[in-house]
Amino acid sequence: MMKFLSAPWRWDFIAGLKKTDGCIFCQALAEEDRDSQVCYRGERFFVLLNKYPYSTGHVMIAPKIHVPSPELMAAGDLGEMLELTNRSLNILRENFHPEGFNIGMNIGKAAGAGVKDHFHQHVVPRWQGDANFMAVVGGTRVMSYDQADVLAALRSAFSK
Ligand SMILES: [Zn+2]
Repeated sequence: MMKFLSAPWRWDFIAGLKKTDGCIFCQALAEEDRDSQVCYRGERFFVLLNKYPYSTGHVMIAPKIHVPSPELMAAGDLGEMLELTNRSLNILRENFHPEGFNIGMNIGKAAGAGVKDHFHQHVVPRWQGDANFMAVVGGTRVMSYDQADVLAALRSAFSK
């Protein structure tokens, strides 16, 4: 519950999902860059900035194909996901100086996956005490960054 309190815009995300049956990952991939929040397109995976982030720079690494779970891909093909995870960690550290990260996947609805049919790895930058701090002051730290600026910074870093 604390997560929702500290990131109230996630309610919009959940409400949005109920309205659209489409997959946000496949949709983002199909869109032009100017309309999407795609930071980087790799060979088999891509990096997407979360529109409704838990924190500044919250990105997701997803396969370009619509698959619900990683074991449906060949182990060798998953290497790029780890590579992009590492690049994301480096880029986020350089640009936003977080003090820690949460990295992980929710596979299936019961595990908390918002989009259950297209697996994705979250990389969530964290700052000491951010959740409690934000719950009290209403997201000051997160809102200090404009999403468009965050996206531009990430795209620029990934393009190098
Ligand atoms: Zn999809």
